[in-house]
Amino acid sequence: MERFLCDLLVTMDGAVGAVPAPIVDGAVDVGDDGRILWCGAAVDASELGPGTAVHRVGILMPSLINAHCHTPMVLLRGAGEGLAVDRWLHEVMWPRESKLTPGDVRAGMLLGAGEMLANGITASVEMYFVGHAMAEAAQQAQMRCLVTPGVIEDPDFTMAGSWPDQIDEMVALRDRWSGSDLITVGLAAHAAYSVSRQCLVAIAERAAETGMAVHIHLAEQQWEDAAVRERSGGLAAPEYLETLGLLDGNVIAAHGVWLDADDLEVLARNDTAVVHCPCSNAKHASGAAPVSEMQEAGLRLAIGTDGPASHHRLDLFEEMRTAIRTARIRSGDAQTFEAAEALHMTTAGAAEVMGRGDELGRLAPGYWADMMALSPSAPALHPVSVGDDDPLSRIVWSGSPGAISAVWVAGRKVVEHGRVLTVDMAEAVAEADTRARRLAQ
Ligand SMILES: [Zn+2]
Repeated sequence: MERFLCDLLVTMDGAVGAVPAPIVDGAVDVGDDGRILWCGAAVDASELGPGTAVHRVGILMPSLINAHCHTPMVLLRGAGEGLAVDRWLHEVMWPRESKLTPGDVRAGMLLGAGEMLANGITASVEMYFVGHAMAEAAQQAQMRCLVTPGVIEDPDFTMAGSWPDQIDEMVALRDRWSGSDLITVGLAAHAAYSVSRQCLVAIAERAAETGMAVHIHLAEQQWEDAAVRERSGGLAAPEYLETLGLLDGNVIAAHGVWLDADDLEVLARNDTAVVHCPCSNAKHASGAAPVSEMQEAGLRLAIGTDGPASHHRLDLFEEMRTAIRTARIRSGDAQTFEAAEALHMTTAGAAEVMGRGDELGRLAPGYWADMMALSPSAPALHPVSVGDDDPLSRIVWSGSPGAISAVWVAGRKVVEHGRVLTVDMAEAVAEADTRARRLAQ
């Protein structure tokens, strides 16, 4: 067992709107199996046995979960700047991605995983091709990952093979990684407008058979609605997916920008989770998602960075702040979207969306000790005031990757003062640069 003593303990062990107040002078005991044995006020902790390691940190909290990403796109970071999503995909992304090799995907995932760990992100939900390369790279970095290799059907994009082959591959990958604590595997389709009805039905059927999660882009751009209605006989995307049975299981719908009240009702009655990607939506001028309306509809919500080619940074602190700012600009009300809600959407809420809400995203007995410490000396977190000060809002509004002093996955330290201990980052950067240059030719 190891004991972590901290100035402030943030457990996030509660539902939306019921996040418990942080504990001053907290303690977390972590077992040799990497799971939390006990946490609470240090004064209530048990007597320590002889030789037990004790660590002293500043703010201790769950590490973050990136609920929608295409991490290997670090190889395409910065390409197609200034284009809306449809032109960006067809003119820049898919031509380069058609040249991708498994080695490229592995190199991109490894660099991005190291980058995320340094930014306090220890788990991500990934939609990308060559799932086995992503899973292997995530494991090498010691990062948790829900790998969902997405089906795309496009004449310009043939590298991934036919869609029946892609679906079979996803299920085989799931079988190969069963029993892993780090890697889980789900199904994915790119979007309702870009994948055929037959393929969506086949994915729904496989999800029902296997219980695998389904990851899909939903209503990201305004023009998608007309494209979906043309394919669906006049239905909007949520209702179309519902009629195909695609919303029956654990569905992770990314973006959800252009959703009206009827759409939200469809998602709510299917308990579909939505991942808000505010920075990507802003950068591509896709729109501002109706997050407050989604909260009111009772949807399960999380936050994602989207791929690093859509928005350059894999930084959930920036995403949380952008989510709140965007919601407040829409509402004209500074009470909209509290910091604690944003933090829930990147920790406990994101773990639930990932299908691992009973073991990730909180500091509580039985949960994995996936944690990060913010330095007590980080200038942006000061002055430390007392009284009615809200520590959670200070973490969200002033926190940044630069304030992180350490990150652990299952109690094992993976980042120390910005240095990633599981990935040779200089080597990963050089490898990614070489491969990115070839893809750009
Ligand atoms: Zn995306």
